[in-house]
This record gives sequence, C-alpha cells and structure tokens, in this order.
Amino acid sequence: MFDMLTKKFSSLFSALTASNTITQSAITDTTNQIREVLLDADVPYSVVDAFLAELSKRVIGEKLVKSLNPGQQFMGHVYDVMCQFMGNTNQQSHIFSVPSTVLVMGLQGSGKTTTIAKLAYHVLQTQKKIKKNGILLASVDFYRPAAIDQLEILAAQVGCSFYRAISTNPVQATTEIMNYAKKIGAQLIFLDTAGRLHIDTTMIQELKIIDDIVQTPHKMLVLDSMTGQESLNVAQAFDQAIGFEAVIFTKMDSDTRGGAAFAFKYMLKKSIIYIGMGEKLADLQPFNPVRTVGRILGKGDLLTLAEKADATIKQSDQERSLKALAKGNFTLEDFANQIDMVKSLGSLSSIMQYLPNMGGAQLSRDTIDKGEKEMRTFRAIISSMTQKERYMPDIIDGSRKMRIAKGAGVTVSQVTTLLERFKQSQQYVKLLKKSGLFKGMFR
Ligand code: GDP
Ligand code: MG
Repeated sequence: MFDMLTKKFSSLFSALTASNTITQSAITDTTNQIREVLLDADVPYSVVDAFLAELSKRVIGEKLVKSLNPGQQFMGHVYDVMCQFMGNTNQQSHIFSVPSTVLVMGLQGSGKTTTIAKLAYHVLQTQKKIKKNGILLASVDFYRPAAIDQLEILAAQVGCSFYRAISTNPVQATTEIMNYAKKIGAQLIFLDTAGRLHIDTTMIQELKIIDDIVQTPHKMLVLDSMTGQESLNVAQAFDQAIGFEAVIFTKMDSDTRGGAAFAFKYMLKKSIIYIGMGEKLADLQPFNPVRTVGRILGKGDLLTLAEKADATIKQSDQERSLKALAKGNFTLEDFANQIDMVKSLGSLSSIMQYLPNMGGAQLSRDTIDKGEKEMRTFRAIISSMTQKERYMPDIIDGSRKMRIAKGAGVTVSQVTTLLERFKQSQQYVKLLKKSGLFKGMFR
C-alpha cells in the first residue's frame, strides 16, 4: 500500500546503518533524501517541511549514545516523528453506536457505494450484536440512474436489508428512509449519497439538509487515494461545509503513491479509519498508523508479533519481561523468561518472519536450527544458576562456572559463551529501547 515509501526508506536506512559515525553532513544528506522520498510519494510540500523541521528539532543537539549505531538512533527519531504525524494509535475496528445512521459522503466514483457494502460486511463480523436484517442499506443518489440498483445488488450479496425510496427527491427520500428504518427497527442504516465530479454548491446544499434530517455522529467521508493531493482539498471542503467523523481512503491497492494518506492526519486533524484494498466485500482493512509506519520503515510487524504473544503468553510474564526490556535493565532471569516465551510462541523460524529485516539479512534454516538448540542449552545453564548469579552475573568466577556447567550437563566454555551472549543482548536491548520500538507496547 505504501510500497513506494517502503522501498525507498529501506534502501536509505540500510546505507545509513552501515556507517559507524554520524556527521552533520550525513544528517543533511539523509534529510535531503527523506525530503525527496516524501515529495515523490506525493506528500504536500508544507507537510514535508513540517515533518523535517520536527525531525531536525529532535536530532540536532542530541548526544550520540556510544553503544548505539548512529543510523539506528536516527531511524528511531524518524519512526517517532512519523507516528506523531500519522497518528500515534494502534487502531482496530471502528465501533458504530446502535441504533444510528452512517451517512456516507464523497465525490462521484470515490467508492461510496462499494465501501458501504464492505462496511456492512465488516460490521457483521466485528460487532456481533448487529444482525444481518438489522442493517439497512438505502440510497438518495438520484444523480446517476444505476447507482441505487448497484446498492441493491450489494445488499443482497451481504445479506442485509435494502430499501428503495418512492420519492426521487433526495430530501423527501431521506425522510422516507428514516421512517422505514424506524418501522423495521433497523440497528444501523447506511445512507448512500450522490457525489459530483467536483465539489459543487448543489451537492453541498443537498448534503446539509440531509445531514439535518439524519442527525448522526457517524458522518463518513470516502476519498479516492488515486486522486492524490486533490483528495486533501476535497476533505478540507467537506470538513468546512458539513464536517465528518472520519475518512476511508479507497483504492489503496492501486498504484497510489500514498502521500495523501500520509499527510491526512496532520492536515485535517482527523483519522483515517479504514482503507479499501480492492473491489470485493472483504477488501476493507482498519487503518493502523503505528503498524503502517513500521512497515514503511522496514521494521517488520512487531505489533503483530506482540499480539500473537499476547494471546499465547500470560500477560504478567510478558509485561514483566517487556518492562525490563524497556527500562534497559535486562537480567539473566529476563533472558531465561525470554527463552521460555519464545518457546511458547512456537519455533524461532515462525517468529523470524515478524522481526525487522534490516538491510535484507536472511537467516538460513541451519542458523535457525542452531539457534534453537543453543537456546535450549542456555535455558539449562540459567536454570542451574543461583538467584544471585542471575541478577549479578559478574560474580560468576571459574569455580562457579564449573558448578553451573556440571549442573546443566554442559562444558565450562558453553557457560562462558552464554555469559558473552548475554552481554551482547544487553547492548541490543539498549539499542532497541533507543530506537523507540517499545513505544506503543505499553498503554
Ligand atoms: P461511488 O460513485 O462513490 O459510489 O463509487 P463506487 O462505489 O461506484 O466505486 C467506483 C469504482 O471504484 C467501482 O468500479 C469500484 O469497484 C471501485 N472501487 C471502490 N473501492 C475500491 C478499492 O478499494 N479498490 C479498487 N481497486 N477499486 C475500488
Ligand atoms: Mg455510488
């Protein structure tokens, strides 16, 4: 969906992470490249400028942390600022209050009618209290002759109710539809409206009257992502004239450059709640800014992994461990917990697919198998340590090593390897912490 941004950013950062020093000129270079990437993706100038100003404010004057790769540190900031711009939320399905009306507005061809069917289908799957015959689809689009037939066909596909108003005057038809909905006790009414090719006063006047009759908090604006920056102008015009709760960007599966969706939250101060990813009923996805930023920056889908972990691991274990990680105090006890958590999640290889893939490094089957075996050994070694040794590994001298090795059924050099690995992972944890990856994991 943001393929273009993703591709450019990952090559940009793999170049950056390869360097060990970050100089003013490296920053300027990278900043210029980011500007180019964003402009190429069709992000408006003003938003690009605001983005870079915020980024510079954070980066300039910041001390470099010795143990960190400067590129990583810089990338952490880019990640934070992007989340700030696109909305720092981990949004799931939108909840529509019941009973209510969802008034769907937008220009002609933006995808209103299709989106209504997708929304009805989605609501049936996510809001269990809403029944098929509790959803009513109706249209006051008398501007295009076949528009209402299209909605009727889609309603049949979803399996929900449909009503065709007798009047062909949009205002009278709206009243008629609302009365019908009341009569059948509809839980959720989706009202399709007429668009135009451009914002025009007749359309806006008509929508204002309909809005007065319907009186709903759920006014949704449908925007065609293919129209690029123009969609932002459309949103501003609708916002001033009628207002809306949130937007849905359609056709994100096409070769849209994504810049308008990137800039939307910052410019309109409202949210994108769904994106259309195709023409079929199931092609609607909740829009999740934090996850999107992660994808754009090539950080893998850490939140998906966190969700998977949520379902598998006892909440308390996980929180304890993640908190230790986030604080950067990472003890051998946590290390052992991590190993146990990974075990309960499944094999390393199935976890790898969620992890960031910096610079395109791929692990071979062999490496993964070796890693899994090593983890089992490590777990055994930690089990044979005393509590004190787990929290203060520095006290582990030669004779302690011998005792631990014997208890775990391993060699002394394997104990030494574990302790070295542990030191390295402490460094890695500090780096992760700095890169901002843990943000959003605690709410
Ligand atoms: P309306 O005039 O606003 O009601 O727009 P329609 O719902 O009739 O959609 C216009 C065209 O866009 C139709 O051909 C839809 O199939 C197509 N369309 C709508 N949403 C999407 C989407 O998310 N992806 C793709 N590829 N096509 C879409
Ligand atoms: Mg339509």
